[in-house]
Amino acid sequence: MRIVSGMRPTGKLHLGHYFGVIKNWLKLQEENECFFFIADWHALTNRYKDTKDLKENIRQMIIDWLACGIDPNKATLFIQSGVKQHAELALLFSMITPKSWLELNPSYKDLKFNLMYQYLKDFLLGKKIKVNQAPPPESYDEALEKATGKQKSKIFEEYLREAFHRAFYSQKGIDFEYLREVLLKFGIQRKIVEEAISNLEEGDVGKDLDTLGFLAYPVLQAADILIYKAQKVPVGEDQLPHIELTREIARRFNNLYKEVFPEPEAILTEEAKLPGIDGRKMSKSYNNAIYLSDSEDEVNQKVLQMKTDPQRVKKTDPGNPDVCIVYDYHKIFTKDEELLKEIDTKCRNAEIGCVDCKKILAENINKFLQPIREKRKEIEANLQEYEKIFIDGTLKCRKLAEETMKEARDAMNLYDIEE
Ligand code: SF4
Repeated sequence: MRIVSGMRPTGKLHLGHYFGVIKNWLKLQEENECFFFIADWHALTNRYKDTKDLKENIRQMIIDWLACGIDPNKATLFIQSGVKQHAELALLFSMITPKSWLELNPSYKDLKFNLMYQYLKDFLLGKKIKVNQAPPPESYDEALEKATGKQKSKIFEEYLREAFHRAFYSQKGIDFEYLREVLLKFGIQRKIVEEAISNLEEGDVGKDLDTLGFLAYPVLQAADILIYKAQKVPVGEDQLPHIELTREIARRFNNLYKEVFPEPEAILTEEAKLPGIDGRKMSKSYNNAIYLSDSEDEVNQKVLQMKTDPQRVKKTDPGNPDVCIVYDYHKIFTKDEELLKEIDTKCRNAEIGCVDCKKILAENINKFLQPIREKRKEIEANLQEYEKIFIDGTLKCRKLAEETMKEARDAMNLYDIEE
């Protein structure tokens, strides 16, 4: 089975990448003909302003993939921008893709929503607004009243998200009037509300994404997949609309001209999301990630900073591992079932302190990372040799991609001028 999958080079890989993507690739490469690519053009779709780190990010990705065991003897590894045919095919596809398919693509709107919501939340929480002083909108009263401490701010975030969701997806575009009204009802000072709204309305938040490249990136993605006539594409649930779009583009092309492209199917990958050390999604921009390249000390420090059960204030308070990120991590890194059960019981009976519990975890994460660290060192010392793997892969892909392009040009009756 031919499988194509790519990753944007946004910096060193962290544990979230490993358990969300790499682990799955390691399995797939065993039984399939895999093409894994560094999607550097995709990195430009939302990070076009500052490209100074791009080359270094690509290098780090090469090191991380290989150190994790992505194997060039089992999979073809390449760099997207080295195969110009992807861009040519994306251009041809852009001729036949109705604009509405892209504008309606949920992930386009959702990404914009997430960016703007994240900004609003960070801005408001950064102002240290006191939610408990806020008279919330009527229907929120009871829930907020019952909530206490950290839970309260969590509930506030949920309401804020819902309010912004309503404003963002309103019939008339983003309804800032509604948003203003709700924020004032939360009891947030008018000055802060006005500042937040004017930054959203007039500032750069989300505007970065108002480019042709960003709108059309699913078309480039379709080209990435179809140019190799992939049969399967591993994706998370949120990426399913993209695969559907790829299938629609293939169908449209085949109907308009000639049967060239197979319609690929999605392989839904298991959701193995590992939260960051603060409980939010693990991300470089939240500064909450544990990197595959982190040293032992860095891991120890980060694990010590991890959030725990918020209700457990003193060591003598019984804890609840079900609501503790540290325990979520234990479930992945602490392989000894007995020990895992023991931690659970001891936590519930206040027989183990969070610091000791974290020490065990840090040790186990370090055990997991040690072979990756060693391999990383070896690759870094001979980087050119390992980069060559990607160069060879890219050259191989050029040939394959050119074969498909010949068929596509021919189907569209374009001149095909050979050297
Ligand atoms: S003892 Fe461990 S599992 Fe329990 S609350 Fe503390 S860190 Fe979490």
